[in-house]
Amino acid sequence: AGDVSEVRIAMTAAKTRQTLIAIGSGKGGVGKSTMTANLAIALARMGKRVGIIDADIYGPSQPTLLGTTEKPVAENDKLVPVEAKGVKLLSVGQLVSAGTALAWRGPMASGALNQLVEGQWGDAEIVLVDLPPGTGDVQLSLIQKARPAGAVIVSTPQDLSLIDATRAIDLFGKTSVPLLGLIENMAGYQCPHCGESSDPFGSGGAEASAAAAGIPFLGRLPLSASLREASDAGQPPAAGDGPAAEAFAALARRILQ
Ligand code: ADP
Repeated sequence: AGDVSEVRIAMTAAKTRQTLIAIGSGKGGVGKSTMTANLAIALARMGKRVGIIDADIYGPSQPTLLGTTEKPVAENDKLVPVEAKGVKLLSVGQLVSAGTALAWRGPMASGALNQLVEGQWGDAEIVLVDLPPGTGDVQLSLIQKARPAGAVIVSTPQDLSLIDATRAIDLFGKTSVPLLGLIENMAGYQCPHCGESSDPFGSGGAEASAAAAGIPFLGRLPLSASLREASDAGQPPAAGDGPAAEAFAALARRILQ
């Protein structure tokens, strides 16, 4: 992998092309999409012009997370991102009807994903790419096509998720995408009734894995029922005030550092 300082240079110097940051995970269900939506909003609240490419062909959830059902139009054969919660969005979910199982094979998936990458991103400065979970051919060709300036890995503290996260780290290493760091999601749970904290998925694992892989540990987000409810309702917590918005803002600052 390249040097993180190269990413910073790309972020400040890129005038002609958006700086793409891939958000990846080794497996599904770790909160990668939730993290992508909320980090994008947090970055937008910091004054950045932000876009999201929702390339998660297995579960494109960005339209739901950002509370939009609008479909993008094409101008000059290029898709124009829709605007939602202050962020530009192109999603695989906008190209197929809701509930359609995406049993796409390599070339078809890659063709659809290219349309998202080649959309009219205009003045967007940072575009987060919500990758499909895993480390297969679709991920590889998307990374080669989109050439992200950096990557962030999301994992839970659980052993299995961390083993998969290590594979994702390897994938970015092989494709020479600098790793900006690892975020631990669903880290710790505070009981809303008795207030006691517990660690349903273990604790400290992600930080140790990041250290072992030699990449920055960007921080952790606790397991939270209210975060899940707000996400399902298309009301990303990063757009509000409160501890979750603060946590996402802190993670967004670490990514830009
Ligand atoms: P992925 O993109 O990795 O498949 P999602 O972002 O779709 O994962 O999240 C999977 C589920 O977990 C969603 O229902 C989401 O609302 C929930 N979730 C994500 N992060 C948290 C969290 N910190 N606390 C509670 N629920 C979460």
